[in-house]
Order: sequence, then structure tokens, then C-alpha cells
Amino acid sequence: MRIWQWLVVSIVVVVVALGAYVFLQVRSLEVRQITNDLYVIYGLGGNVAVLDTDEGTVIVDSMTSQYQGKRIKEEAMLLTGKPITLIINTHYHIDHIHGNPAFDPGTRVVATEKTLHHLQQTDADYFSGEAVALMPNETFVDDKEITMGNKTLRLIHPGRGHTDGDLVVLFVEEKTVHMGDLFFYLHYPNIDLEGGGSVAQWGDTIDKVLELPFHTIIPGHGVVTNRPKLEQFQAFMRQLASIGKQAADKGTSLEETLKTDRLTEDEDYEPLKMIIPIGLTREFVLQRAWEEANGAFELRP
Ligand SMILES: [Zn+2]
Repeated sequence: MRIWQWLVVSIVVVVVALGAYVFLQVRSLEVRQITNDLYVIYGLGGNVAVLDTDEGTVIVDSMTSQYQGKRIKEEAMLLTGKPITLIINTHYHIDHIHGNPAFDPGTRVVATEKTLHHLQQTDADYFSGEAVALMPNETFVDDKEITMGNKTLRLIHPGRGHTDGDLVVLFVEEKTVHMGDLFFYLHYPNIDLEGGGSVAQWGDTIDKVLELPFHTIIPGHGVVTNRPKLEQFQAFMRQLASIGKQAADKGTSLEETLKTDRLTEDEDYEPLKMIIPIGLTREFVLQRAWEEANGAFELRP
């Protein structure tokens, strides 16, 4: 073969290998059992909770693609033997909600009013046609209790943080809370200022969550953990807020703020990857804290 032919063959091999790798990453789900009736599924996207109840299966979040939604549906059926009758979406970001259209039209889909509003503003194309039935079809503002036979779910919007519409789910009998992206465990969080998120208020929002009776936490990203780890993350968010506030008070530039040595609670934190790093770094969170404190961002209507 000539050199150019070798080159073409090499490129094809690399593209095929890369495609296969991405497909395997999207396909692969890892299940961990938390209690008798509660499971978490890790995959490419936000963590999914699966609860087995007398009145069917409940899932919290649905990952990043319709294909993953289909895989979650199959996996949940294997775990509980019951169809999914309730989907709860913690917030509107695609890695938590784009699996929704894989579920049956008529399924109850619960989220906050703000989440539905953000979806209509940013993602109406994705949820067009038949998929519109899998948009949140039951919404609330502050809190909502749902009884599913032998299980009680308390859904609470504890305040602004990651966005202005996040909910957390307390699985009462399991003493476990799913926090969505109000908690990135050992990762730098995404801070959606345009979607009403707030570094400044995130710490107080976590205080509201800490009032709930639970000992186990499913974070939006990262592995299942416990209250002390959430308190550590809260300390990190408060440090970040105070760095932002001080920068605004003193008129410190963004460039100077990024060099700060005052952010110390992030010792073991790693930038989150979804196959590749997605820009959630130490610099990113410092920049968002600075932008919020200086009003240097545009809130979506
Ligand atoms: Zn998110």
C-alpha cells in the first residue's frame, strides 16, 4: 500500500475505535444497591435512583440520551420487576432529563415549575412531537409529598444553588436523599447563573437539605456518600462565595481572583469527565463566583 492508503486506513481504524469506545461508555451502566428497595445507576450523565414500591417503580433523573433512557428502563425492570410509573427530574440539564422520551407516554413526570420553565426556554425542540408527553407534566413550587403504596417521597426545592429550580428527593423509609446537582461529590460543580443558580446562596440551600432526616446521599455526580461529605462540600461553596464577595468589595480583577490561594476546601476535587473533561475546573468555579458577585452575567428571562 502507498503512504496515503495507509493514512486512510489508520484514520478509519481510529474513528471506528473511538466510535466503539463512545458507544460502550454510553451503553455501560453500573448498578449499586443502597437498601432493599433502593438502587443507584451510574453512567454517562447524572446519577439515577431506582425505587421499588408497591405501586410501581420510581426513577429520579434519566441521563443524557433516549438510548440511555431505554437502558435505564430495562435495568430498572430487572431490579424491581415492575414498570416505571413515576419519573422525577431534579432539574432541566440534558444529562439528567434527555432519557425521558424513552419512557411510555402517560408516565407521571414530576419536576418544579422553574425546571419546566427552563426546559420550555432552552430545550423545546428536543421535547417536540411525541416526546412532549415526557416533559414534566406535574409541577410544584416549594415542596410536594408523594405516597407510592408502602413508600413516601418528599420532594423539596431547598433554594437556589446549581439553578433556581432544583429539587431534592427524600426517600423517607430509606433515609436517603437524591440531591441532583446541588451536590457534586469530589468534583467541581456546574454553576448555572443564567438559569438562576447562585454561589452566594448555595450554602444556605444545603442547610435546608441538612435539616432532613437521612444518612445516605446520592449526589448528582460522584459516588453515593454521607452527611459529613455534604458538609465539606457546603464549606467549599461558602469559601467560594466569600472569595467572590471579597473580590467584588475590593474591585479585584477576575485574573487576580483566579490566582487566589484562599480556596482550600477542594483538596481532593477532580474536574468531572464525560468521556472528556467538560470544563468544570477550579478556574471555572472561581470565575462563576466572581461573575455572580460582580453581576457579570445575564439571567435568562
Ligand atoms: Zn446540572
